[in-house]
Amino acid sequence: MTSQFSSDFPRTLRRVIQEVSKAGDLDASLEIIVEQVQTAMNTEVCSVYLKDEERQQYVFMATRGLNQESKGKVTLALDEGLVGLVGERAEPVNEEDAQQHPRNRYIEGIGEEPFHSFLGVPITHHRHVLGVLVVQQMAARRFDESEEAFLITLSAHLAGVIAHARATGSLSLGKSENELVTTQFKGMSASPGVGFGTAVVVYPEADLSSIPERLTEDTYGEVQIFKNAVDETKMEIRNLSRQLGTQLQPGELGLFDAYLQMLDNTEITGEVIFLIRQGDWAQGALRKVIESHVANFENMEDEILRERGTDIKDLGIRLLAKLQSSDTRMVKYTEDTILIGNELTATDLALAPAEKLKGFVSVKGSAYSHVAILAEAMAIPAVMGIEDLPTMLLDGKPVIVDGFGGTLIAYPGSEQIEYYRRVLREEAELVDGLGGLADQPCIMKDNHRIGLWVNTGLMTDVARSLGRGAEGVGLYRTEMYFMMNDRFPTEEEQRVIYRQHLQAFHPRPVTMRTLDIGGDKALPYFPIEEANPFLGWRGIRVTLDHREIFLAQVRAMIKANEGLDTDLRIMLPMISSVAEVDEAQRLISQCYREIVEEGIEVEMPDIGVMIEVPAAVYQARDISKRVDFLSVGSNDLIQYMLAVDRNNAHVAELYQEFHPAVLHALKDIVDAAHAENKPLGICGEMAGNPSAALLLAAMGFDVLSMNATNLLMVKWALTSFANSKGRRILNRVLKMDNAYLIKNYVDDQLRKTGLGAIVRSV
Ligand code: PEP
Ligand code: MG
Repeated sequence: MTSQFSSDFPRTLRRVIQEVSKAGDLDASLEIIVEQVQTAMNTEVCSVYLKDEERQQYVFMATRGLNQESKGKVTLALDEGLVGLVGERAEPVNEEDAQQHPRNRYIEGIGEEPFHSFLGVPITHHRHVLGVLVVQQMAARRFDESEEAFLITLSAHLAGVIAHARATGSLSLGKSENELVTTQFKGMSASPGVGFGTAVVVYPEADLSSIPERLTEDTYGEVQIFKNAVDETKMEIRNLSRQLGTQLQPGELGLFDAYLQMLDNTEITGEVIFLIRQGDWAQGALRKVIESHVANFENMEDEILRERGTDIKDLGIRLLAKLQSSDTRMVKYTEDTILIGNELTATDLALAPAEKLKGFVSVKGSAYSHVAILAEAMAIPAVMGIEDLPTMLLDGKPVIVDGFGGTLIAYPGSEQIEYYRRVLREEAELVDGLGGLADQPCIMKDNHRIGLWVNTGLMTDVARSLGRGAEGVGLYRTEMYFMMNDRFPTEEEQRVIYRQHLQAFHPRPVTMRTLDIGGDKALPYFPIEEANPFLGWRGIRVTLDHREIFLAQVRAMIKANEGLDTDLRIMLPMISSVAEVDEAQRLISQCYREIVEEGIEVEMPDIGVMIEVPAAVYQARDISKRVDFLSVGSNDLIQYMLAVDRNNAHVAELYQEFHPAVLHALKDIVDAAHAENKPLGICGEMAGNPSAALLLAAMGFDVLSMNATNLLMVKWALTSFANSKGRRILNRVLKMDNAYLIKNYVDDQLRKTGLGAIVRSV
């Protein structure tokens, strides 16, 4: 068996992976893996050992060629045998005669005696060795390079499937409610707090693969809905065929006939109706039937038949569109909604009724995604980046969101419920205890005073912000309002909204940021499709290209202040050159002149720039000369400095607020702004972290602007220190070269000062 499969490597690989991904649970996946690998590589033995983290051992899980009785019973310590060696080295071990190897370990009863050659490769998922995939043969020979390469490639693909199957394990469908056991899914803490509730799965429109599992009691009604969808789809296809009849060749028109035949043929429609009668809802039944037919066709060797898979998928999407147009897709919020989705957006969050929303979980995204920031501002516990979450199986199920630990618990047992109730009580006590600080200014022990402002975006932020003693608004994310509309709002519509905001905070200063879309903030009515959206058309780049949008917004901001004389500040996002500042200022001055000419009496607002692109750090002094204030957008600045996508859970560990390069950059920005006597704030999430806030105050930031949720904790931390002490800590930290050590050191200083509870809470 040398290269007979290497020439057809990709197809074999695809077939194995497809087969494996069809499996329902972990055991079935492993059985398919060993069977498929044994066949594809034509070996006598293929086995999988999986790591049991709790017991620190490998468990013999599945095999072809060895003793089936040993499955689940044979275990090896992590440093035992050749399997242990593969895991230790995290690289393949390829031995001509394994029995001669000093690390070989004889295992009674497993049946390895006849087999000499051994090739084991690690199954690695995100740096962790999950297990070892082994092939063995009787003949004493080294497996050749192509075999080794095949097994490594396969193992890299299977790692994700195994991790997913493992995570899903106990939630597999088909189990009755009382068979289901508590399952925990680990992600990233995105907004602190604990939420108890019912999973409400949100899924994108016209995406078959993300339709959740849902049971229906009204099988008759669901069958009717499906039959109507079939009739409507047939009608649509006949119309299309008629319209295009004159433009297409008869051969091309044949596709429509094929579609109609598929719909008439009871194979697909009959199977869907069968599943609905078994209790599935129509969309879920459609997904299962289409996926299974598509997989069958995609596995076929014949290219033309494989293409049929694409046609079936297309037909499935057409049917789905009809099912969804009957509005069944409308999210049905329960009284205790825990919103769950593959890639939830700020819009999903903003559209959910606040009083019903108890938690928020997204498979994609990370703690610095805009949706996470919004969740924190709304005090909704949130977890992001749970990669292996089987969202489709969770709809309607009881869950707990642990926003402190970054965990979702499905089917919590009484122990977990009790534990999290206690956490909630302790948290409420902490917040109550801080309530007295709301009316006091933030004055540190040596009388250094620092402004604590809030970031806002929705009117719902106002009451919480004022209740916690916000002294101003350091960042009003105007794009939130744009996101909730279905077209660009007019100047007058914007003026009304901005005025409400100014009035609510009067007489406190309000910093309104001009529209910051692009990146992960999309407007449903103005999609921006780019390969690298965070390096693309974002923030000021969009609005300088669309002056009509910029001018209308600035005019609305300035006019909103008529008669209020609030300290209105206009702030420009994503500035990367002074040319952009000059141009934006010219446009703002133009707006102001026009408004005055219209006879409206208003003050010219202060104009400021966000420092969130590394280029702006190096030009902070030049920028300061031009504007009235600066504000650091640390969320973006960190992503651009460290080259870590703020939305990407894979690299979230590399996103470090305490990275020495970040701290030095922040200090340089402070020095540049103060050298020009310009006030400087920071409005990224970092400002709301009490340990970071201590360093920022010591650097000389005049204002820290954060979400209202963290304000009192930051105030408690800062008022517990003298700024001179903070400066000593900062000086020490600026000499350190490792983000983890810096964070631990500063967190420790807070703990020693009696602030352990808040170090835990953020
Ligand atoms: C930032 O980048 O730090 C910031 C405050 O802006 P946003 O998070 O909205 O990008
Ligand atoms: Mg930003």
